[in-house]
Amino acid sequence: MTFSELGLRPELLRAIADAGYDTPTPVQSEAIPIVLAGRDLMAGAQTGTGKTAAFVLPILQRLHASPVELDRRAVRALVLVPTRELAIQVEESVQTYGKHAPLRSVAVYGGASLPDQLRELEAGAEIVVATPGRLLDLVWRGSIDFGAIEFLVLDEADRMLDMGFIDDISTIIGLLPPERQSLLFSATFPEAIRRLTKKLLNDPATVQATPPNSTTTLVEHVVLRVEDSRKRETLSHLIANGHVTSALVFVRTKHGADRLTNQLARDGVRVAAIHGDRAQSQRIAALEDFKAGRVHVLVATEVAARGIDIDALPYVVNYDLPRSAEDYVHRIGRTGRAGVDGVAISLVSELELPYLRDIERLMGRAIPVETVPGVVRHAGPRDERPATRSPRPGSRDASRSGGFRARSSGSRQPSRSPSGVRRGSWTPLPGERAANG
Ligand code: AMP
Repeated sequence: MTFSELGLRPELLRAIADAGYDTPTPVQSEAIPIVLAGRDLMAGAQTGTGKTAAFVLPILQRLHASPVELDRRAVRALVLVPTRELAIQVEESVQTYGKHAPLRSVAVYGGASLPDQLRELEAGAEIVVATPGRLLDLVWRGSIDFGAIEFLVLDEADRMLDMGFIDDISTIIGLLPPERQSLLFSATFPEAIRRLTKKLLNDPATVQATPPNSTTTLVEHVVLRVEDSRKRETLSHLIANGHVTSALVFVRTKHGADRLTNQLARDGVRVAAIHGDRAQSQRIAALEDFKAGRVHVLVATEVAARGIDIDALPYVVNYDLPRSAEDYVHRIGRTGRAGVDGVAISLVSELELPYLRDIERLMGRAIPVETVPGVVRHAGPRDERPATRSPRPGSRDASRSGGFRARSSGSRQPSRSPSGVRRGSWTPLPGERAANG
């Protein structure tokens, strides 16, 4: 399947080629023809599947195919997203894919200057990408006219509901013209989402980018059993020894994120943090520094990291295990994307074992428990498997580039996969002897 076979116009095909994409991702091949045909869509797709292009490309095409003279404040396509980072990113995608067929677009989100966004809106925009709260502020000020809306997209709908946006979303939907095409993208489909889709979508086509509630197969999952008090030391050690090169590290609380960031900085790690207490400008700067490789570790809380798009992210580290198994799926959706493999490492303490079981239940499989010599001393029941685990014949481990086996388990030396993920043995902590030599 090629992008041109999907029926996209030459201007869009050129922008796709400029972006370096050869073939559509599965969600793109399925969703683009549906949206071009004018149908409502319900898509199960998480970050990393190419979902943004799956709705932006056909919407751009359809808006272009029927240009209209409108009042400058009349918006034709509205994309609702949960976070400011995602608003910025989706709007950037509109610019990227629309670069040879430009339409005016604006991102509106909280925590940034309202007058600036008002000015941009007043200059006119056919496509608005918005977080629900800020959008309603603008609606009540009379700064947006919904009368000409033809497309509504709810992106990361499950996360918007988790963040408490359901009332705002219902209000917004109530203000839109009923004659419109609606698309809903969600990584998971809890009951609240199913209720919303019934209300929102009219005879929708459905597309599932990944099996329900499963995690992308490009990601290798590893659990390291570590006592809480040794997590920071373990992470510094993994970084210092090149086991972890460039990582997005999830921490549960803002305070915890700040503390870890300061500790890692003291350990000499180039680190930055994003969380809700940091100014928008600081969050953008941290993300840019991380993307440019100026910092190697980005410490983030769940909400702040939601949907951020980082190309070829080799590692996601769960410094704290999420309390909801679905959040685990969201978190690791940031690695192992677009043909690049990645590793999701979870540092799991005794108290977190019940959450690990929930995650394994949702994924439908056990996550291998590894030990880092000198790091994991705590011998709980899950630690009994040796660190020198051999791959089972025919298992995914056996067919991949070596997993996290200790060096003594085979002749393979540490190697790097195409994504830069280092494979091979764990290095013992300073002053400790490796269990296997
Ligand atoms: P998304 O799931 O929309 O956040 O996209 C994830 C990443 O995949 C983004 O960095 C896109 O630029 C990239 N991407 C989207 N579609 C393709 C494609 N067909 N081929 C290669 N990369 C893509």
